[in-house]
Order: sequence, then structure tokens, then C-alpha cells
Amino acid sequence: MNISSIRIMFWGTGGAVTPKSAEQPCIAVKMADTVFLLDVGERCQKALECFHLGVNSPLYIFVTHLHSDHYSGLIPLLETLSLLGRERALSVYGPPGLGSVVTGRRTTGYPVSLTELYGWEGILRFPGLPLTVSYVAAPHSYGALSYIIRVEDKVKLDEEKLEQEKIPPALRKELLEKGKVRVGSKEYSLNSFVKQVVRGVKISYTGDSLPSHRFASKAMESDVLIHDSTLLKRDWYRKPYMAHSTVEDAVAVFKATRSRLLVLTHFSAMYRNPAVDLSEAVGEYPRVLIAEKGLTIDVAFTEPRVFSVRINTDCI
Ligand SMILES: [Zn+2]
Ligand SMILES: [Zn+2]
Repeated sequence: MNISSIRIMFWGTGGAVTPKSAEQPCIAVKMADTVFLLDVGERCQKALECFHLGVNSPLYIFVTHLHSDHYSGLIPLLETLSLLGRERALSVYGPPGLGSVVTGRRTTGYPVSLTELYGWEGILRFPGLPLTVSYVAAPHSYGALSYIIRVEDKVKLDEEKLEQEKIPPALRKELLEKGKVRVGSKEYSLNSFVKQVVRGVKISYTGDSLPSHRFASKAMESDVLIHDSTLLKRDWYRKPYMAHSTVEDAVAVFKATRSRLLVLTHFSAMYRNPAVDLSEAVGEYPRVLIAEKGLTIDVAFTEPRVFSVRINTDCI
């Protein structure tokens, strides 16, 4: 898979109770033709339509926890895909108990694999994909998880040198994968042809969570840090029993992890217009975005990174 850019698309940016203009948590990450869905709140299947994600795209779904605003869109999504003619298998990952909310409640025309994730942390690998997804326990509710997607470093080859040494284009993939290649009687090492190593892209998502050292240690130097920001600090006294982060907590984690871009999400319904209501708390930080429906971030897989941010008006 050749990844030149990674697109992050926000559909749901609210919590369990959302104002009319917002949706429950649902974020899509697309690289090449593969889609990763982070949480599937109610109406998440609408994200497929507005972001043109493709009915038969390779699809991996990650549920952070079993509060209904994070998984209640799963069955409708699976069934919608079936009705639209999906044939390709898909995989769903989530906390212990995920199977019990899905099993026996669906009929799909394609295979669905379910994996419940146990323990404090772990790492998932996917055949043919140059990336890992790590999960860590999140301080929020039983089994709650945060996810970190890490695309592998990309090695750029020195084309001139390859030409000089007459390495056939057909063998370049082997050179990258095996670290060496034989042409005739001579063996060539990858090290001799490396022009640049582009650091892999990292996207970290807390799901619902209090600020967490465990998460922060895994999310160091994220390109995009997507953090629970349910409340402003000054409103905390209204709902002190909630295991969520404040905007100020999210900014502190952003600084501590030395991440490149912070996206705040999962806003309390008390903020009718988060872009305005929360702006005061983040005003001095230019690399902080307040998520809204349709927010689309393209991360070019280059060094230095280039971020492009826009609102997809098809979603509004
Ligand atoms: Zn929630
Ligand atoms: Zn929750």
C-alpha cells in the first residue's frame, strides 16, 4: 500500500446528548482506499455518504467503549452496508462486551469479524497494511480504550543511484521489503539507496477519557491528537462526576506530548456552538482545532508535514 496522504474526517463531535447541529462520536481516517472508523455513534452510516467512503472499501472499526453514544450506530452501519451491496469482510475491535451488543442482532451479506480487546494495552497489526493500531485503557468506564494509529516510516529511494546501478524497477519493492536485492551475481543493500526516511504518521484518539499519562506516553509526538474536551474548566463544577477531560486538560496533554495538531471533540450539549463557546480557552494556540461536522484534515506523508484543513460542506 502506497500512502501519500492521510485524511481525517469528522462526522460526530458531540457526546450522548447532542444539539441539533451535531452528531454522536464518529471519525473516519482514510489512507489509500482503506478506512478506519473511530467510534460509531448513532447515524454514523451517514458519514459514509457525506465523505464518499465507498461501500466496498476495506474497513476497520474501532469502538472505544460501550456507552451507547459510541457504538449505537454499529448495527445500522453494518446493515446499511449490506443493503448497499457490500461483499467485502470487515473487522470490528472494541472493549470486552462488544460481542454481546452485536451478536444475534444483525444479518449481513458479508463476513464481520469481532475482536474484544483485553488488558491495559496492546498492539494490533493488519496483513498488508504498513501500520499498527495500539490501544490503551482509558480512565472513563469499564473497558474503555484509547487508540493510536501509527503508519510506518516511509523510505524514499535515490532514483539516480538506482539507475546508475541498473536496479530494475521490478526489484525495488523487494529491496524495500527485504533490505537487500540480488542483481546477477551482485547483492545490493537498501542502505546504499536511501535518500530520505519520512517519519510515520501518528494519529491518537482518546475516546472518552480523563487526562491519562498512559495514553500520553503512547501519543508522544502525534501528528494529530484528537482529545475528549467535554467541558470548559470553569463549567466542571456542574458535572464533576463525569470522567471526561476539559478543554484545558486536552491542551495540557497536547503540550506534554509535543503533538503537531490538536483537535478537540466530544462537546457537552451545554455548548450550542463549540466553535464560539470554546474559542476563548484555545485562542492563544494556533494549532488547536475545534471539531465540527464535516471537518476534514489532510496530512501529507512528507517531511516536513503539510496539513490542509477544510469543512466538507456536503456534510452540513
Ligand atoms: Zn461519549
Ligand atoms: Zn462514555
